[in-house]
Amino acid sequence: MTGTIILGSGMAAWGATDRLLAEGITPRLFDKNPFPGGHTATFENNGFLFDDGPHISFTSVERMQQVFSDAVDGQYEILRADVDNWYQGHWVVHPAIANLHGLPTELVARIIEDFVDVSAKPTPDHFANYYDWLLTAYGQTFADNFPSAYGRKYHTVDPTLMNTSWLGPRLYRADLGEILRGALAPSPGKQHYVDTFRYPKRNGFAEYLKAFHAGTELHLGHEAVAIDPEQSTVRFGNGTIERYDCLISSVPLPELIKMLPAPPDVVDAAGRLSCSQCVVVNFGIDRDDLSPCHWRYVYDEDIRSVRMSFPHMFSSSTVPPGHGAVQVEVYYSDKYKPLDHRPEEEIEPVRRELIAMGILREDDTYLVEEARYIPYANVIFDLDAGPCTEIVHGYLADIGIEYCGRYGDWAYIWTDESYMSGERAVERSLAGR
Ligand SMILES: Cc1cc2nc3c(=O)[nH]c(=O)nc-3n(C[C@H](O)[C@H](O)[C@H](O)COP(=O)(O)OP(=O)(O)OC[C@H]3O[C@@H](n4cnc5c(N)ncnc54)[C@H](O)[C@@H]3O)c2cc1C
Repeated sequence: MTGTIILGSGMAAWGATDRLLAEGITPRLFDKNPFPGGHTATFENNGFLFDDGPHISFTSVERMQQVFSDAVDGQYEILRADVDNWYQGHWVVHPAIANLHGLPTELVARIIEDFVDVSAKPTPDHFANYYDWLLTAYGQTFADNFPSAYGRKYHTVDPTLMNTSWLGPRLYRADLGEILRGALAPSPGKQHYVDTFRYPKRNGFAEYLKAFHAGTELHLGHEAVAIDPEQSTVRFGNGTIERYDCLISSVPLPELIKMLPAPPDVVDAAGRLSCSQCVVVNFGIDRDDLSPCHWRYVYDEDIRSVRMSFPHMFSSSTVPPGHGAVQVEVYYSDKYKPLDHRPEEEIEPVRRELIAMGILREDDTYLVEEARYIPYANVIFDLDAGPCTEIVHGYLADIGIEYCGRYGDWAYIWTDESYMSGERAVERSLAGR
């Protein structure tokens, strides 16, 4: 494995590199971007730092906490997550199911009635789709008004078209007592699957990967465009050709398959994998009292903003003193909700929405107003995802190319899990030899 090439320079590439270095193997890394880090890059504009979509570290894996901590010499903030939700003119503490107090009485009553009804039924051992799961977990009124509505905005697809393989701890399951207490009185209950989180004290989330990038042979501006598995070569867009003994890729599967002489069934399967695209709209403002919460979800389907986060609350070093910032995510997908306009055209409608929700004001001074396009955001777990991923992974295993990371595993995984996925790719490769 002396001639090991890694495609990518994000979290998965970091995990793969560390694992290889532990074996005494120094890989060469190639990334198509002119900057390192993939999704964990941080961008500066007019003294404000914005990550590539909001990024915080909430790993509960102690080893990974240590890896992240060591990477920044222990220089990180630990914060308790404050999270809430916007629902039809109300701010509701997260999770909404356990904090219904203040919502219209009729809605709350129907949510509780439905919840009692479904709780009396035996839990099925199989769910046809995500909507089915939501009905069983919450009853119809809550499912329709909250997670289904949010799911259509975030995943861009109706929950009836999604599987449940990605759920894990993401959705909070409350019991009746908790729901009743949260409905009868304001509750202090903040039950997000992220309880506390960490964020570097300086330079944004990208700081976690700085030492990794500094210590590797990293070739930026190298977009892999063709792979010849027979000859064990990768051709890059700039004309260079590199030979490999071992190839580890964190490139999104649909892009990777386009580079390979794959058979038609694999090409077809890769073409049916779908992922959302995200437009992040960033505002830098001359005041910091924008929000009491670190991030806020928006359930209303007639509002395009899906989630709003406030980088100056992750670390004040991300903004000039006394200033504040908000980053808003808006989601699209080629398959279900194509983006038919320039990302910049999101700025004005999002600003209007934030003013209507009382986050921004007409008379604010905007030091940054920008939109960034993220072509691969969240894997969409539609009903094609499972079988198609299996076909693509099977083919890559046959031709000896290791895949890793969020878009190589084709999974709903976070930074820590992407790092560990890179480690696993190396271990598979070592085992295969
Ligand atoms: C909006 C958003 C918010 C998120 N928030 C969080 C969070 O708060 N906390 C958290 O832990 N996780 C978060 N995540 C998930 C996290 O970003 C990912 O799990 C992780 O960064 C994925 O790392 P990766 O290395 O697998 O992929 P990437 O970071 O995408 O790396 C893939 C690399 O491959 C390169 N590449 C692609 N094609 C080619 C090619 N043809 N040739 C060469 N190089 C190529 C890319 O440029 C990129 O550098 C978030 C993700 C999104 C989209």
